[in-house]
Amino acid sequence: VSRFEGITMAPPDPILGVSEAFKADTNEMKLNLGVGAYRTEELHPYVLNVVKKAENLMLERGENKEYLPIEGLAAFNKVTAELLFGADNPLIEQQKVATVQGLSGTGSLRLAAALIERYSPGAQVLISSPTWGNHKNIFNDARVPWSEYRYYDPRTVGLDFEGMIADIKAAPEGSFVLLHGCAHNPTGIDPTPEQWGKIADVIQEKNHIPFFDVAYQGFASGSLDEDAASVRLFAARGLELLVAQSYSKNLGLYAERIGAMNVVCASADAAARVKSQLKRLARPMYSNPPIHGARIVANVVGDPALFNEWKAEMEMMAGRIKNVRQKLYDSLTAKDKSGKDWSFILKQIGMFSFTGLNKAQSENMTNKWHVYMTKDGRISLAGLSLAKCEYLADAIIDSFH
Ligand code: PMP
Repeated sequence: VSRFEGITMAPPDPILGVSEAFKADTNEMKLNLGVGAYRTEELHPYVLNVVKKAENLMLERGENKEYLPIEGLAAFNKVTAELLFGADNPLIEQQKVATVQGLSGTGSLRLAAALIERYSPGAQVLISSPTWGNHKNIFNDARVPWSEYRYYDPRTVGLDFEGMIADIKAAPEGSFVLLHGCAHNPTGIDPTPEQWGKIADVIQEKNHIPFFDVAYQGFASGSLDEDAASVRLFAARGLELLVAQSYSKNLGLYAERIGAMNVVCASADAAARVKSQLKRLARPMYSNPPIHGARIVANVVGDPALFNEWKAEMEMMAGRIKNVRQKLYDSLTAKDKSGKDWSFILKQIGMFSFTGLNKAQSENMTNKWHVYMTKDGRISLAGLSLAKCEYLADAIIDSFH
């Protein structure tokens, strides 16, 4: 008899479990709109040309596979902070940013959660309702208390700005407020620049600490700078803040696990101390991060020619998703005879569309139409082709009615 007799079966992951179910489906119309991963119009995975070029450079240079320092590759840490805050941001020159390489967005968030648990005991993290499903897991496992602030208004399929502000105001002083830097997941609804300013006002008033999750820089607007505007607005106010970054989507480095945790501090001295503690937390968790993705990012962002090529490729990816979004809207509007207003689809940005389909309706999408998606009604437009928009529109209309 097993020592593990008492262990029960864990449920499949609500997002990654969708891909497993998709693989097992043999229907030829099947469509995987679960995970947020970019596909070509032919629905194939895509490796960016700049990534291949950066990898060739690495081979030519004959680089070794020695351990990285705990904080990661210095050339990566430098460019990742510059990409986020802007290369000429005085915070960088003043050494007020503690940056450590992380295991992509998830690992960076988890490291920050460990920092909060250790050095801000009892402080809670406010997360949006709804949010990316893994946020709750991350803070639960790090034993960081969290609560939700209102974000999505099902009546308008838009932002519940008043509710958001009221909930951030009502939270205990000094809470961490988790914000999606751009392309909110799962809703695809971002605050306007004016609303960001008001959010910053309340956070300042309440002495909260902004904690940005930036997993889609470049994927919302197609522009890296525009998509960092929210973070830069908060940084320009002189606030201390946390920012987790991911290169899974914008460089297509999903499996390389490359990202970073940045902590902006009031002084260079505080930043040095925070960085030392982040290293101390990382050492027993994973010792030091992997080198391959870090070198790719350092080569692409650090080389002006490759950097420009990357921007063009990202615009191409963001552009394909915009085309699919438009075609889905057109198909729904043309096919649906109920008079329902589908314009919310065009207002949402980034990789996802939040359809408003409930759990039972989402299950109908999968069981009857072989369209795989998360049960919260989110579909990844990055996994959709122009050719499949009409089929998807039929499935959505059928599931709604
Ligand atoms: N945050 C959000 C909001 C995300 O959508 C994702 C990716 N799905 C991540 C973080 C992290 O992803 P990764 O660990 O692959 O960087």
